[in-house]
Amino acid sequence: MTPRIYLDHAASTPLLPEAKAAMLPWLEGGYGNPSSLHKDGRRAKDAIDQAREVISNSLGCLFAEVLFTSSGTEAANLAVLGAALGNKDSNRKRILLGSAEHHCVLHTWDLLIRLGFHPERIPVDSFARIDLDALESTLGDDVLLVSVMHANNETGTLQPVQDVSRLCRQHGALFFCDAVQTYLTGWTVKDVEADLISLSAHKVNGPKGVGAIYIRAGVKLQALSLGGGQEREVRAGTENVAGIAGFGAAVARQPKKLDVSEVRNIFLDNLKEAVATVPDRSLTLGGHAHLRFPGIDAETMLIRLDRMGISASSGAACSSGSLEPSHVLAACGYSEAEAKEGLRFTFGWPLTNEDAAEAAARVNRCVEEIRRSRR
Ligand code: PLP
Repeated sequence: MTPRIYLDHAASTPLLPEAKAAMLPWLEGGYGNPSSLHKDGRRAKDAIDQAREVISNSLGCLFAEVLFTSSGTEAANLAVLGAALGNKDSNRKRILLGSAEHHCVLHTWDLLIRLGFHPERIPVDSFARIDLDALESTLGDDVLLVSVMHANNETGTLQPVQDVSRLCRQHGALFFCDAVQTYLTGWTVKDVEADLISLSAHKVNGPKGVGAIYIRAGVKLQALSLGGGQEREVRAGTENVAGIAGFGAAVARQPKKLDVSEVRNIFLDNLKEAVATVPDRSLTLGGHAHLRFPGIDAETMLIRLDRMGISASSGAACSSGSLEPSHVLAACGYSEAEAKEGLRFTFGWPLTNEDAAEAAARVNRCVEEIRRSRR
């Protein structure tokens, strides 16, 4: 049987052996509650704090500025809604969300309105890059928060976050950056200059169901989950000790995420035909390739590729089960038919150059077969 090639690393990544090893003690014997005062509880708390140390060091921030959540989604919800509620007494009621943000940001929209805020979308260009002129012209001292992701999860486009940060500071607005797709690509909080940053373990070869939020010291945030005083009373709920330990170990193992651009480039250079959504590869994450094969819809390609042993995706994992055209490509100005052609191939550990060349050969065959069947 042909070995499968997994090209969906933006959706989720394989668990590193070091992460698994760090999790096992907390799944097997270490069942103490980290809030308990006895030795078993203290050991679990120490494991959480060890991971917090690793992650805060990797971000170049204070230990206390990192809190654990159940996912990148929860971290983003907490950043947007928690900042809104934490500052509800201020006169700032407008909240600006990039129109190509992940749904975990955009789907806070209706709730923000019900809470008395005014969400607005900031447009992006045809490469999904935020329109800085539009942001600058709409920013004012009535804006509470601006949300612009570090890199887009569908197209891989890197965003001009320092410019966004500068504009936010000029107007006293908070800046939230969803960095789920870029964590461990070599930046620290000084490079991003955001007040709030969200992360997710399973995008960096850690376990699913764990995330983290960086909250710059002094930023006011209201908790969304209420209960015990865990995570500095910002995120109540008994911590996922095994998951957090796995997250910390995955980060410790990769001080800088492996540079996978070579593997991605071999894949792209071996394709016979494809239209790249962002033709300049230097504008995207090294592991991302977002393509269209004009006239062939993504669903047809994905089903066939799956049968040929390639796991790829048509966009955000959480919506790829539906036939909805991508909101990111719609925001980039693509027609509905074009948006339904968008395919995402994403690369990471432990893919090899040979895997990339073989994957390109299978994609070429897939496209040829579909085109031939239609003649
Ligand atoms: N933000 C971005 C940019 C993502 O790509 C994802 C995952 O697809 C998330 C947030 C959500 O993270 P999680 O899967 O941990 O909820």
